[in-house]
Amino acid sequence: MLEVTPVRAFADNYIWLIHGRTDRTRVAAVDPGDARAVEQALADRGLTLAALLVTHHHRDHTGGVEALVGRFGVPVFGPARESIPGGPRPLGEGDEVRLDDLGLAFRVMDVPGHTAGHIAFVGHGAVFCGDTLFSAGCGRLFEGTPAQMLDSLVRLADLPRDTKVYCTHEYTLNNLRFARVADPGNAATAAYEAECMHKRNRDEPTVPSTIGREREINPFLRCDDSNVKQAAESRAGRRLMDRTAVFAAVREWKDQF
Ligand code: ZN
Ligand code: FE
Repeated sequence: MLEVTPVRAFADNYIWLIHGRTDRTRVAAVDPGDARAVEQALADRGLTLAALLVTHHHRDHTGGVEALVGRFGVPVFGPARESIPGGPRPLGEGDEVRLDDLGLAFRVMDVPGHTAGHIAFVGHGAVFCGDTLFSAGCGRLFEGTPAQMLDSLVRLADLPRDTKVYCTHEYTLNNLRFARVADPGNAATAAYEAECMHKRNRDEPTVPSTIGREREINPFLRCDDSNVKQAAESRAGRRLMDRTAVFAAVREWKDQF
């Protein structure tokens, strides 16, 4: 099992620090949007930065890369199909990131949809999926089509059920308010919402989630479910013929929610 520490940044971002398995004081930072937040966490916790992993090009995920590379001289790993500061080692589907000095290795998945070249890092029972899969939600379609995003989500949902889902934003409660109407009557959603409210009241993160949990409560992973399909059809005011049409309608609905 991985040891992972969240660093809060901006309004609701998490920068994940993945601790080395050989030396827990050496860490890789995922999506370092804010260099100062990372530097502060390293200083507070007595940690050393060893690498940066980047899922996609948005500023809130990359804004700290240049400053951190300048200060610590660490390698950067990022999507081959996007322009990322810091000259990352370019990665795509099936590539492996080996961080030998940390005793860590991750497999790369292409997960386009939120952005065209978005990647995810999978390994050690965890997935770092940026803004593709959120707990109870998914990223907005800025550069991809509904079919692309759905395919990315379906492949993430195929990971083992106990895989921990490290997404980049604390959007869970907002997503669950939507899930309540998009997947009405789902008892697992209601129970999960109570659990997450309790965590947020104590100012704790609701993430990581797990793939198994997301398959039960995330409406975007449940476009085959008759409840979700029916809710989407009544919202759209027309029959939705396949799960891509259901997904597109649910995504559009959420955009306006
Ligand atoms: Zn983003
Ligand atoms: Fe983001």
